[in-house]
Amino acid sequence: MIQFMNVTKTYTNGTKALSNINLTIKQGEFVAVIGLSGAGKSTLIRCINRIHDISSGTLLVDEVDVAKLKGRHIRKFRRRIGMIFQSFNLVTRTTVINNVLVSFVPGLPLWRKLTGIFHKEHKIKALEALDKVGILDKAFVRVDQLSGGQQQRVALARTLAQNPDIILADEPIASLDPVTARIVMDDFQRINKEMDISVIMNIHHVEIALEYADRVIGIRKGEVVFDGEASQVTQEILQEIYGGKWEAEKAEMEEQAAYV
Ligand code: ADP
Repeated sequence: MIQFMNVTKTYTNGTKALSNINLTIKQGEFVAVIGLSGAGKSTLIRCINRIHDISSGTLLVDEVDVAKLKGRHIRKFRRRIGMIFQSFNLVTRTTVINNVLVSFVPGLPLWRKLTGIFHKEHKIKALEALDKVGILDKAFVRVDQLSGGQQQRVALARTLAQNPDIILADEPIASLDPVTARIVMDDFQRINKEMDISVIMNIHHVEIALEYADRVIGIRKGEVVFDGEASQVTQEILQEIYGGKWEAEKAEMEEQAAYV
């Protein structure tokens, strides 16, 4: 369970990215965070695994007070929280399985990880993770030979291999075409439902967010302006979240979808 209690985040340059956030996210929820660019979505997600420190309030993850963690406790805590990025964050000049195997040796420098000799049990776990996202047959292919969608699935497999309770996803489908985006979203949904892993996703594509997420959190200027079931989100609510710019956002999304 993730609990934000009166959480505020002000960056060192004075930008107030989050104001007075109060949220409770239960284990196993699939939450989409939506809102205009600059609204604070990414900051909200990144406070959960302490990429960013909160400025005031309390943030609890399974009763752990995140702000109070230090040193190796932060690293240990982060092992339970997978993170997926828009840019995949893979080493493209090596094989798929090597990219998944790095999740088993978090403390080593990257070059040691990639030249490392891995235990058989790690290799089996890595192959199982690839199987869960449907790309077992690509295990020994170099990542740069894969499509964007397949690369995002490798990133998802790498996160799964770390056996997380929570997956944070920051615009995971932003650079994918609509068909591939849905394939990746299907993976997220299956992982969420079958493995009871919470998914908290910052996502630009509102239509897809409403289709896949159970719960939608709308952020505007650092504040939660909507929090409810995806089925409750109306055009009026979207206008509120997007500060009256919803029609323009929608047109832009449709245009982008037509081009890719
Ligand atoms: P979103 O993910 O909704 O686009 P962000 O969380 O990235 O929004 O940003 C929220 C606000 O905080 C914006 O005004 C942004 O410019 C600012 N911001 C984000 N990261 C930093 C940073 N590292 N330093 C200063 N300001 C930042």
